[in-house]
Amino acid sequence: MPAILLSIGDELILGQTVDTNAAWLAGRLSGLGIGCVEHRTVPDDLDHIAEVIQQCAEAAKVLIITGGLGPTDDDLTRPALAKAMGVDLTEDPASVEHIASYFKGRGRVMPERNRIQATHPQTSTMIENTCGTAPGIRATLGHCEVFVTPGVPREMKAMFEHEIEPAIQDRAGTARTILTAKLNSFGSGESDIADRLGPLMARDRNPLVGTTVANGYVSVRVRSEHEDPRQAKALLEEALAQAKDKVGPLAFGQNEVALQDVVIALLTEQGKTIAVAESCTGGLISGMLTDVPGSSASVLGGWVTYANEMKAEQLGVPMALIEQHGAVSQQVVEAMASGALEQSGADFALSTSGIAGPGGGSKDKPVGTVWIGMAYREGEAVKAIARLAILPGDREAVRDRSAKCALQLLRLQLMGEDLNQMKWASAP
Ligand code: ATP
Ligand code: MG
Repeated sequence: MPAILLSIGDELILGQTVDTNAAWLAGRLSGLGIGCVEHRTVPDDLDHIAEVIQQCAEAAKVLIITGGLGPTDDDLTRPALAKAMGVDLTEDPASVEHIASYFKGRGRVMPERNRIQATHPQTSTMIENTCGTAPGIRATLGHCEVFVTPGVPREMKAMFEHEIEPAIQDRAGTARTILTAKLNSFGSGESDIADRLGPLMARDRNPLVGTTVANGYVSVRVRSEHEDPRQAKALLEEALAQAKDKVGPLAFGQNEVALQDVVIALLTEQGKTIAVAESCTGGLISGMLTDVPGSSASVLGGWVTYANEMKAEQLGVPMALIEQHGAVSQQVVEAMASGALEQSGADFALSTSGIAGPGGGSKDKPVGTVWIGMAYREGEAVKAIARLAILPGDREAVRDRSAKCALQLLRLQLMGEDLNQMKWASAP
């Protein structure tokens, strides 16, 4: 059953907005075993949109259109679909109610121009919008089922999952189901991860296993293919489990899961708290941790101590220690972490001090040299350890990878794993 995706909007044509809707929808269709044969994009032009809708409806059994359902004059998808179908627009009283109550719920009166969002071509039906104003539209045009959703990605995804997927999923038919997933790791390079995967990465296997790098994460990508969707899923799960086994403790989660998600989950599960003392990462670790919903249960707070005086005054790092070893040193990050632990009363503390560049490097301590400290309690005693990372890349990359090294070290510690697994942050 061939499907076509049609994206509408001048901003897409001009390249001001990247068409992530089509990418997301294409992935979901292939997961359902529905072959997507074309992606099209047209500007906000009524005749042009109507003509392309007709062409698509002749070539496909399913057409999913996104964008142009807003209340403004450049939102033309509704009249264009009506034109393609050769019918007039009609107003749906239930949708007027829905839009009015959406505004009322936000303490506002529905602007008159939003009323247009309750119109749809005669013979078509409305698709409820659970997270915005514009309802979607479902229509039949010749042999083609047409679905229209707003361009706003969140609204589009909700409509796809609630209405479109259930309507089309049992009509997969001929195409094979293709499922993809990734297993994310941090702390070792791509070639090392590839070595660990070994024969799993053979190019003639199904599922196909490969690696990819983004933002310091090395991810194992798995792609399984089968005519039976359940078999495709079983193959995918099996390959993911094998990959996890081969990669070992550096693998921390699947798909969109980030290191901080896992760290917060572990802290919460174990009822532990954390404080952070940051120099070169300037608050990045705190930012990442507090990005995670529910982090308030385990994140107590932190310090950004950039100047030596602040390290001494706020965290109690002895000035003599800084003078003797330099601020970028094992001794200083250990003292920063212990200071943060004692000041906050937390169970764990992380600290960083390094040279993010582009200036400030020396022969002994080149740009990218970063010390990461971690303190924790062992009974009454406070224990502090440090790890050294020599990180490649520009300032942004060094700071980002430093924060992630710290989070991965804490994760390994929380899991009772050997910290020496971390290839990028070695023991002194
Ligand atoms: P609205 O009611 O917000 O006007 P709409 O259905 O008219 O919704 P558009 O005006 O086309 O949709 O887009 C609304 C927003 O959604 C845009 O600002 C854009 O950021 C985003 N958007 C639209 N189309 C896409 C797309 N294909 N991929 C990613 N984002 C998109
Ligand atoms: Mg719009």
